[in-house]
Amino acid sequence: MSDFAADPSHPRYQSLLLRHRLEEAEKQGMLAGSAMIAHGRGEAYDYLLGEQTIPSAHEATLHALRALKNAERPIISLNGNAVALAGEQLLALAQQLKCPVEINIFYRTPKRMSALLERLETIKKERSLDVEILGASPNARIPGLKGPRAKCTKEGIIDSDVILVPLEDGDRCEALVAMGKTVIVIDLNPLSRSAKMGTITIVDELTRVAENMLLQFDSIKMSEVSKTYDNEEALRDALRHIATKFSD
Ligand code: ATP
Repeated sequence: MSDFAADPSHPRYQSLLLRHRLEEAEKQGMLAGSAMIAHGRGEAYDYLLGEQTIPSAHEATLHALRALKNAERPIISLNGNAVALAGEQLLALAQQLKCPVEINIFYRTPKRMSALLERLETIKKERSLDVEILGASPNARIPGLKGPRAKCTKEGIIDSDVILVPLEDGDRCEALVAMGKTVIVIDLNPLSRSAKMGTITIVDELTRVAENMLLQFDSIKMSEVSKTYDNEEALRDALRHIATKFSD
């Protein structure tokens, strides 16, 4: 965060910090042209949610963490925005889960792939993390998707049973669910196709979710029986929260 000068007491400090991370990532060639638009949509929903983790999102986070800890082959899928905003936290989470991460981007170009790999390798080195990074040499395709965005690895996404997909697009989310995987979506928009398609959808901001997962990691026991979880109800709750926020 070289030249980030905002004062932490600024009321919009967190929002400015995330924007700055994206600006830096853009300069390093990590992002697609639509990255800022996707972020802006997220910001708008976050504003409506009060820029906080609402109780149903907290529940969804714990449920998702339980699923990841109980998984046989968990994996974290990373796109450009996820690496830019929460690369450090997501790699730390992968280290805790002892699982790989896989770069899986919508607009795949060699330049973007190498910029993302470089960023992740830097984080690994700086934090002394031992996490396998997949995606550089895809050897499989996600069934039902066309074009380069279907590319993935057999040993990573294909063979995983529980997959965390922050900021995923609806199509790919649907294709992963159709493969029988438990798909954990992080998306501030409770109306997005990904949010509706996901097995567990966390309607919360990515960096808050990653932080919460790291904080709660040790308190979630692997043997804990999963409670009945209703994803549609979690989405309805987020919408109710937005609708009633201003009448409180
Ligand atoms: P879908 O295909 O699922 O309907 P979309 O086309 O609306 O998705 P994309 O542009 O593929 O959306 O992805 C952006 C999504 O990610 C948006 O729904 C946005 O709300 C969400 N988003 C953006 N930034 C964040 C963030 N930091 N944390 C959580 N969600 C975010």
